[in-house]
Amino acid sequence: MSAPSSVGPGKVVRIHYTLRGETGEVLDSSDSSEPLEYLHGASNIVVGLEEGLLGATPGQKVRVKVAPEKGYGPRAPDAVHAFPRDAFPADMPIEEGMSFQAEGEDGQSLPVWVLSVEAEQVMVDFNHPLAGHTLDFEVTIDGLRDATSEEIAHGHPHGPGGHHHH
Ligand code: ZN
Repeated sequence: MSAPSSVGPGKVVRIHYTLRGETGEVLDSSDSSEPLEYLHGASNIVVGLEEGLLGATPGQKVRVKVAPEKGYGPRAPDAVHAFPRDAFPADMPIEEGMSFQAEGEDGQSLPVWVLSVEAEQVMVDFNHPLAGHTLDFEVTIDGLRDATSEEIAHGHPHGPGGHHHH
């Protein structure tokens, strides 16, 4: 089996990345951690970044600008809700900027973010914090390999040796 030569569906791609916002501030980066591995074509990363990396080769540096529509979506103004403070467990620490999992109507868990905490109420945002933002990614392709059939069935890469936890 020959080594896969470029990023495309069914490849496990290892990347180093820096994500900047509109004003150049660094929002996220893989600098201080292991490179990120994702399975191309499985929505592991935002669609605009996936599109921008298509065809890239190992060692290549790629700059990808992602509009909100292909990133974390536009901000929905009606997705901010006020909850009474006593709707939360009294011993649960609640601080501005923290995120937690809320339970949706169908029982699935949804990530939400705390916008502000007042004496009587907590403002909770169901938008992702990066919703409405244009994302500016600087990516270096660190490595590439064919995904295994198990990885494709699961929709995500597995670690070295094939061991993983779900
Ligand atoms: Zn798995």
